[in-house]
Amino acid sequence: MNSPETAETRSGASALPSIDELLRTETGQRLTAALGRTHLTVLARDAVAAIRAELVADSCKHESRSAADLLQDAASRMEDAWAAEQRTSLRRVINATGVVIHTNLGRAPLSENARKSVIEEAAGYCTLEYDLATGKRGRRGLRAESLIAELTGAEAAVVVNNCAAAAFLVLKVFAAGGEVVVSRGELVEIGGDFRVPEVLAQSGAVLREVGTTNRTKISDYVRAISDDTRMILRVHPSNYRIIGFTSSPAVDELAALARERGIVFFEDLGSGSLGYRGGTAFADEPSVSQSVRDGVDMAAFSGDKLLGGPQAGIIAGKAECIERLRADPLYRVLRSDKLAYAALEATLDSYRRETERTEIPVVRMLALGADKIAERARRISGTLSDSGLRVETVDGFSAVGGGAGPTANLATKLLALCHDRLSADQIELRLRSSNPPVIARIVDGLVMLDLRTVDESEETELVKVLFRVMS
Ligand SMILES: *Cc1c(COP(=O)(O)O)cnc(C)c1O
Repeated sequence: MNSPETAETRSGASALPSIDELLRTETGQRLTAALGRTHLTVLARDAVAAIRAELVADSCKHESRSAADLLQDAASRMEDAWAAEQRTSLRRVINATGVVIHTNLGRAPLSENARKSVIEEAAGYCTLEYDLATGKRGRRGLRAESLIAELTGAEAAVVVNNCAAAAFLVLKVFAAGGEVVVSRGELVEIGGDFRVPEVLAQSGAVLREVGTTNRTKISDYVRAISDDTRMILRVHPSNYRIIGFTSSPAVDELAALARERGIVFFEDLGSGSLGYRGGTAFADEPSVSQSVRDGVDMAAFSGDKLLGGPQAGIIAGKAECIERLRADPLYRVLRSDKLAYAALEATLDSYRRETERTEIPVVRMLALGADKIAERARRISGTLSDSGLRVETVDGFSAVGGGAGPTANLATKLLALCHDRLSADQIELRLRSSNPPVIARIVDGLVMLDLRTVDESEETELVKVLFRVMS
């Protein structure tokens, strides 16, 4: 008696392996150890289901595949799925884009001291909220915050999770239920979805716009202040510039106005160059020290932009204001963790010792001259002469990134890569798929590597990747 022909038998899907068979294959056993039986079972089911769907869709072809072939196919799909999952995990990359503060690539690379401090001081038990002198509870962030105060000239400082959190905390504590006066030219969106009007609305404050997109005068602020006004907010437009016929009042003028009217003056600086002892000059970037000297009540900036430390939102200002921020329940929600504090303390300590130009990667990379980069580029291109790549050094520009001056382009020397058999897209993909991944950019149809953002200690590794990718 013949059994009725079903879609299953017609398609050959009945020859598909069982999940158990698949897990017993050599691949299955190897992967069980790496990812656990439960998760591997999910991948195995997906692999078999995908093949079944293809067989059913192609059943009119009447090509029957052997059980061994199907088993092999399922095992290799399972392996591919695992490789794809692994690619989504956090991995170190070589940043050859020349964008120093690259938000998608983790912004500031930490200094050697900061890395060491995270691992050796903070990864295990540590004195996060413990005072070794008294054996009692201590204050989280005490050391980092006193360093910030010292380096910026502010009376006090407090640290939260990021600059967006810092701005939100200040607005909520000092302006909720009242009005905040902001210039129209500063109602910007900053990379990574930070929109000034939205943060303000979320904090419970009401936005009072003054002036025009390109020009705002002190008299505009004067007219806008009423009994409902709690704060003057100044936002550094960061990655956005209006060039030409523009003006806005000086920080000290606004500070005087706020003082006279008994309201708070808060400046969201964003990138936050410390400007310590003259600091490293960043074209048109305002410094935290200057804002403090000009009389702001509070200034907020990111830990992982020009400062060159971990993700953090730092607020420096008047002691009385900082105390109110720390006492608010929202501070508890937004506070930083021990790993960030360890990295931040070590980063700030480089500034205190005045060694930031050599120790902090962001500061070091920004200070690199095109001639030094050209020398490294020539050295690398020399070693690549028999790699199958054609390498040229060409003039170009690096970028500060991270919302710092979009106009502040830094002259650099780029390595332009060409290959007889590979297109620019293919080269870029191979670099990105290598281990470690090398992130490059394509300019005018050529793959370009900018050594400004490649640490000298990564050069040997970069050359190895280039040889491997091209062979
Ligand atoms: C970058 C930036 C922010 C957001 O900072 P995060 O640390 O990314 O939260 C806020 N304000 C300004 C002016 C900025 O430049």
